[in-house]
Amino acid sequence: MISHAPGRLAGDTCDRDPIWDRDVETETHDEAFARAAPAWDRQFRHLMDHSPFYARKFRDAGIRDAKVTLTEIAELPFSTKGELKQAIDGAPPFGTNLCVTPEQVKRVYQTSGTTGVPTVIALTHADMDMWTAIGTRTYFATGIHDHSSVLTTFGAGPFVAGHTHFVLSRIGCGSVPVAPGDTDRVIFGLKAGLADTLLGTPSFAQFLANLASTPRELGPSALTHIVTGGEPGGGIPAIRDHIQTALRATVTEVMGIGDIAPSLFGECPEQQGMHFCGGGHVWAELVDPDSREPMTIEAGAVGELVYTHLTREAMPVVRFLSGDIAKIEGFPCDCGRSTWRMRVIGRRDDMFIVRGVNVYPSAILAVVGRFRPRVTGRARVIRKAPDVSVTPPVPVEVEVPDGDHADERLAEEIEAAIHSTLTFRAKVDLIPERAFGESGYKTRLTVKRP
Ligand SMILES: [Zn+2]
Repeated sequence: MISHAPGRLAGDTCDRDPIWDRDVETETHDEAFARAAPAWDRQFRHLMDHSPFYARKFRDAGIRDAKVTLTEIAELPFSTKGELKQAIDGAPPFGTNLCVTPEQVKRVYQTSGTTGVPTVIALTHADMDMWTAIGTRTYFATGIHDHSSVLTTFGAGPFVAGHTHFVLSRIGCGSVPVAPGDTDRVIFGLKAGLADTLLGTPSFAQFLANLASTPRELGPSALTHIVTGGEPGGGIPAIRDHIQTALRATVTEVMGIGDIAPSLFGECPEQQGMHFCGGGHVWAELVDPDSREPMTIEAGAVGELVYTHLTREAMPVVRFLSGDIAKIEGFPCDCGRSTWRMRVIGRRDDMFIVRGVNVYPSAILAVVGRFRPRVTGRARVIRKAPDVSVTPPVPVEVEVPDGDHADERLAEEIEAAIHSTLTFRAKVDLIPERAFGESGYKTRLTVKRP
């Protein structure tokens, strides 16, 4: 690893405190709880008074007017994405969980609506400030300071990632916005030295890293830092190492959840997992992925992340099941933050079971990545039946560079590596780039196909 001062990117010699919000980001768990508890008490009252959706949900769960404290929060029912969608359908466009008047809604984002129709995410002025506050901690933690110049491919809207522009503005860094998928403008911007930092998906960063192996395509640039987000990958060692080596830049990772906050976790230059940055505004829990019993957030624990808004006004959610399975990396950190760190190991929906063992496609990506440059680094699992149990061999498609003549032994070698690392048999199909599709912006790790 390139040498650097604690919490700072290599080569960053500025004298700014590398921690944006020292009060929140260096507090102990007890202090974080003491900050969150009264905020939750106000939020609980706000929901009972203004959310027909939660007032009814809590009543159905047997909670009358009694106060439920933060210590007792696990007694409240979970909220699912499906329920929130139903709440919207019940009183469109904002739904029965809009806890303010429509006049107080000052910004509306949309979700990508994987099931067809988009849903909306409404924010009051205070909600926007709250998102910016959390996002600023998140991106500042990655090492973006006011002296950075940031090329972002997240777009301005309609999706919540567009909020990142307000965050960059709050940090005070330079900004070079480019629309998602506009590869030509990204390459122009990097070649012209307009930015030292790139925000993008890990798929896109890999795509650039593959280009960089032919120097004529990308050539030297001022790029020193890549922040990946939008999908897992930036934390998978084989993917991260490849991007860092090919582009000679430090890779850090951020993560958010549209229904909660677009940036909620940020990895610092120590590269030991993403710090939780939502202190005071979002309460996070970890639950067992199978039984959904509460788990302690401690090093080594693997569970599903569950979130509760403490301060959101317009569409607060309580105990939202995120579907993200995370491994807690621990705390504190050499950067000085005491907030817990984690890495996402997969989406609950992408998980499948081979002979009783839970498998996430990210584990397969990690194995495939070792075969660069004979592979591009992208791969996906083909699920032929809806059941979560898969009988081996598990079908896996692996992308290989166009023009490379068929590498007869490659598929067998990858199959052997999957077998020795993950202990199940896979059937690997090699797919050339031009046939793999999706132009390298965001990769679906699982594809259902009969
Ligand atoms: Zn750190």
